[in-house]
Amino acid sequence: MTTSNRCVRCDCPIDGSNDSEEHVIQNSVGGRLKVRGFICRGCNNRTGETWDAVFAEQTNFFCHFFGVVRERGEPPPQPIVTTAGEQLLMQPGGGFKMQNPVFKEIPTEGGKQVQIKARDRREATTMLEGLARKYPKVDVAAEMAKATADHTYPEGVMRLDIHFGGPSAGRSVVKTATAFAFHCGVPIEQCDLAVAYLRDEVAEPAFGDYFERDLVTGRPVGVPIHCVAVTGDPETGMLLGYVEFFGVQRVVVCLSQSYAGPLLARAYGLDPTTGKMMPLQVELAFSATDVKAIYNYERVPDGSRERAFDAVVPTAMKRNFDRAIAHESARATQYAFENCGAKPGDKITPELAKKIAELATERMMPFIQRHARRR
Ligand SMILES: [Zn+2]
Repeated sequence: MTTSNRCVRCDCPIDGSNDSEEHVIQNSVGGRLKVRGFICRGCNNRTGETWDAVFAEQTNFFCHFFGVVRERGEPPPQPIVTTAGEQLLMQPGGGFKMQNPVFKEIPTEGGKQVQIKARDRREATTMLEGLARKYPKVDVAAEMAKATADHTYPEGVMRLDIHFGGPSAGRSVVKTATAFAFHCGVPIEQCDLAVAYLRDEVAEPAFGDYFERDLVTGRPVGVPIHCVAVTGDPETGMLLGYVEFFGVQRVVVCLSQSYAGPLLARAYGLDPTTGKMMPLQVELAFSATDVKAIYNYERVPDGSRERAFDAVVPTAMKRNFDRAIAHESARATQYAFENCGAKPGDKITPELAKKIAELATERMMPFIQRHARRR
């Protein structure tokens, strides 16, 4: 293990008192590999709250869509707006919730009627308790007993507005490439261009998207991989980094153009849906002219980004659909057994079985209709 003894961000000496563990690939997208002796604790906290937080926000939709397994915690609910204007929250583990509860007071002849639409029973209870403070006649327990669970599905389809990049998320990605180089034994002083960018708030971006060719050999079909790679060639002086997220964000980082270390070619791949390492290789050899073109976003041919996305979307769609079916069937079966009138231990007669099947079908109907409409 290499220790630089200098923080990549603030250049302070790193010792046992301020050393910290840094995820090479961000924890928010399911990263596992960690380095020590790379960034001081203070800078680790600050970059976590700034660069990595912006990165996490920009990639949160993908975490839900692909079902990322994090080492710590779950991705926060992701706000989305559908084409029908519904404001929903994607939930970790699947499904949607309303973004906000609904509270409506409707004047009637004898007084007023209150309508409450909460996202769960707990929220409904809290809202009713608030109402009871205002109107002591409200009986919270009695009202809760009358409450019904309403399962509806979004009318519209998700409207995607995915933005990735900018100086904060960009620095988070350059940090990933630099941390991996450090993990591979390259002292941070050798990553001069990347480090200059990480330390200077107003520096020109030191990264660019690359989609001209697929640089990854051994890419598993349909898997939304994360990947980080580094190559160093003392003859050309080029020390290059490559970072890929979900197979769809592909970024080249030039760490140095005056590399003097040994010949180096290392890659690390990860399936963020399982947390398993993926063996793969990355062919990473660019000249200074190439790097300039990449930084100018000249290596993103028309449709190439979309093709990368299309390669991993069907797997995620199928997974989400399978998960929804399993979830809905389980809920429908439970509903049917609870409402068929039988008690535990009762014999399931053909008539009862028919009733259970009917109830389950009834409960599945909105889900089936929704998918029938989509098709
Ligand atoms: Zn520091």
